[in-house]
Amino acid sequence: MKKLKIRTKMMLWYTLLTGILLAVFLPVLYHTIAATLLDSEKNNIGATMSIAESSIEFDNGHLSIGDELKAPANTFIIIWDKSGQVIYANTQKNLFYTIQFTEGNPYRIYYNNEDWLVLDKTVQENNHVVKIRICSSIDKMEAVLNRTLFLMLVVIPLFLLITIIGGLFIAKRALRPISKITDLASEIGHGDLSKRITGIESMDEVGELANTFNEMLASLENSFEKEKRFSSDSSHELRTPVAIIMANAEAILAATPGADPTTAANTILAESHRINTVICQLLMLTRGIEGKYQIQLEEVSLPVLTDAVLEQLQEEAASKVITLVNETADVTVQADQSLLTQMMLNLVGNAIKYGKPDGHVWVKAEREGDGCLITVSDDGIGIMPEELPLIFDRFYRADKSRDRSGSGLGLSIVKWIVDMHGGKIELESTPDQGSIFLIRM
Ligand code: ADP
Repeated sequence: MKKLKIRTKMMLWYTLLTGILLAVFLPVLYHTIAATLLDSEKNNIGATMSIAESSIEFDNGHLSIGDELKAPANTFIIIWDKSGQVIYANTQKNLFYTIQFTEGNPYRIYYNNEDWLVLDKTVQENNHVVKIRICSSIDKMEAVLNRTLFLMLVVIPLFLLITIIGGLFIAKRALRPISKITDLASEIGHGDLSKRITGIESMDEVGELANTFNEMLASLENSFEKEKRFSSDSSHELRTPVAIIMANAEAILAATPGADPTTAANTILAESHRINTVICQLLMLTRGIEGKYQIQLEEVSLPVLTDAVLEQLQEEAASKVITLVNETADVTVQADQSLLTQMMLNLVGNAIKYGKPDGHVWVKAEREGDGCLITVSDDGIGIMPEELPLIFDRFYRADKSRDRSGSGLGLSIVKWIVDMHGGKIELESTPDQGSIFLIRM
């Protein structure tokens, strides 16, 4: 049984159930029909007996049978007087005269290849005793029953056959998507995630399974693509500084005429810092993705944290003549202090990096319901509307040519930190006018 296909198992089960149902139901039906027909025959023979009784006339000690006594088709009446003399009979059939007179309920006899129902009754009036016998053929009833039995014996196997064929057909159709899923799964086993199950219109359970499978494939393909892009972007991001380091180190070693070893060494140092930053950011994100980061929640004062961040970035802001403004209210949040500092450093750092000379960066924080709303806004270069949905993607940089200092990981880290705190981040930006990041946590 274990090795059988589902559709064969289904077919066997419902054939068995249908078979059992028919085997129980049809005999019950047959017996009910037989009992009903027999009851009707008994009523008929009883009615004939009543007619026979009422046709007997006892007149001044004289016994006679009225003319109105007429037996229905295939029914015979025999009437005897008390001396055993036949006073009325519409049959010559011997047996009807010889079988023992048995009063009470109608009984059945088999005579001359026919089934008969016999009813005997003794009628008494004054001194007269009369015996009446009614014999009625129930062969028609038997014929009906035999036909019913024959039909049932033909119908049961035919019904089972139709059930098997129809059931197999329906099961095959219903389970077709599963075969498609199996075929597709083995094709995907060879690495092609772009395949989908097609041609399934029905929205039954199996259709839903096919849809869910397609959705799962789409999301797998998407994640797979992202991972591929992540790996290629990481290598690309690290390859450029490594190439610069190698070129400068080779220039120093070869003592290239005109090359300043100090400048070359400084470049090597700067590029090494860059590699270090990218590796640290990557490590942070990877630990985040793998769920290895243990968040340490504590009461964090936002004005104090903002002051510390702005102080750290003051020099960088001053170099671009950008004014940093702390407008945070006296709000505290339950947060991981080092993660929140990192988030603020990235946001304010970006606001300075993408700010305009003589510009401003404002950091605000206020209570909002049970949580708080933090906003970091600037009057810098802004972001194009079509780039807004991609801005939190890893390694995405709006305009790669304008600033080599970024890696495109800062906002992914911000998003991850906000997610870790169960918060939400939104971005509004107008090109050439500035951006505003809103964080609710
Ligand atoms: P990056 O290291 O390049 O700054 P981020 O992930 O921090 O990477 O930011 C992704 C991109 O979003 C940046 O390259 C930049 O184009 C854009 N961006 C981020 N913050 C701002 C901002 N305040 N104003 C304008 N553009 C911004």
